[in-house]
Amino acid sequence: MGEFELIRHYFAAASCAQGGEGVVLGIGDDCALLSVPPGEQLAISTDTLVAGVHFPAVCDPFLLGQRSLAVAASDLAAMGATPIGFTLALTLPTVHADWLQAYARGLNQMAERCQLSLIGGDTTCGPLSLTMTVFGRVPGGQALTRSGAQDGDLLCVGGDLGNAAGALPLVLGERSADAGQADPLLAHYWSPQPQLALGQALRGKATAALDISDGLLADCGHIAKASQVAVQVELERLPLSAALQAFLGRQGAQQAALAGGDDYVLAFTLPEAELAPLLAAGWPVRVVGRVTAGRGVSLIDGRGQDITPDTRGYQHFKETP
Ligand code: ADP
Ligand code: MG
Repeated sequence: MGEFELIRHYFAAASCAQGGEGVVLGIGDDCALLSVPPGEQLAISTDTLVAGVHFPAVCDPFLLGQRSLAVAASDLAAMGATPIGFTLALTLPTVHADWLQAYARGLNQMAERCQLSLIGGDTTCGPLSLTMTVFGRVPGGQALTRSGAQDGDLLCVGGDLGNAAGALPLVLGERSADAGQADPLLAHYWSPQPQLALGQALRGKATAALDISDGLLADCGHIAKASQVAVQVELERLPLSAALQAFLGRQGAQQAALAGGDDYVLAFTLPEAELAPLLAAGWPVRVVGRVTAGRGVSLIDGRGQDITPDTRGYQHFKETP
């Protein structure tokens, strides 16, 4: 048995690879077979993570296993899809049993948390890179797209913003902090929690949704463009964790929330009447702005002043008192 054949068997043995709802045939044949109930649609998304680009080349393989799948599963959450399964295309420079074992353990843990079955993949030799394709299902016509936001909707997010961006200097070893500050931020970076249940709860309620991967302002730009509306973000309403504010200060935390990546928290637009029932049901919905007629994204401070950062970056925003 060759090395890569061993690896295939290794992943095939993981508990997440033993099949699940919707998986007719898993690892081992030329294709996996999925079934989708009548009236439902298949939701599919692919993400590639390249060593040295999307994660540090030297990092904990267990955490990488968790993060690589969480990032992909978050796209299913953003569509309001119910997870079915995923494939894993693994490119490895060399085969290290310890590395693979830890990676598979992290992957398996996230797969079980997300109820995603590993249904196949590919194993090749080359610079370290990981490609995940996730498959989910959603009742016909109920997927949460980016294009349905309406004038008058509230702009909401599903939790604290900026934690993963705050963790980045820690991940890269550029800064250090005591465990009380660092641990919650690092946990958010390495083990983002795809908001799958929230996404499903928003079906038929949210008018548009996405998961925040490039910072709130940039990602709201996608909703504004696809929906042909204007989105207004209110600076003072951004939910910021205590750890992030302690680490970066309030302005730094706000900047991380607005422009930092990797949060994988849902951002969505909601008709006002939908807010109270969602809050009453205990969903983590935070209002951070609203949708108006027009185009583009703007940022408003506590006094109602427009402080939208210019295209050169966030210098302008930093200098506001
Ligand atoms: P083929 O040559 O027909 O593409 P492979 O020999 O590459 O098949 O793979 C055999 C089986 O192992 C397939 O079912 C494939 O999906 C699965 N597989 C290969 N690599 C991985 C991996 N890294 N993780 C999970 N399944 C894998
Ligand atoms: Mg084949």
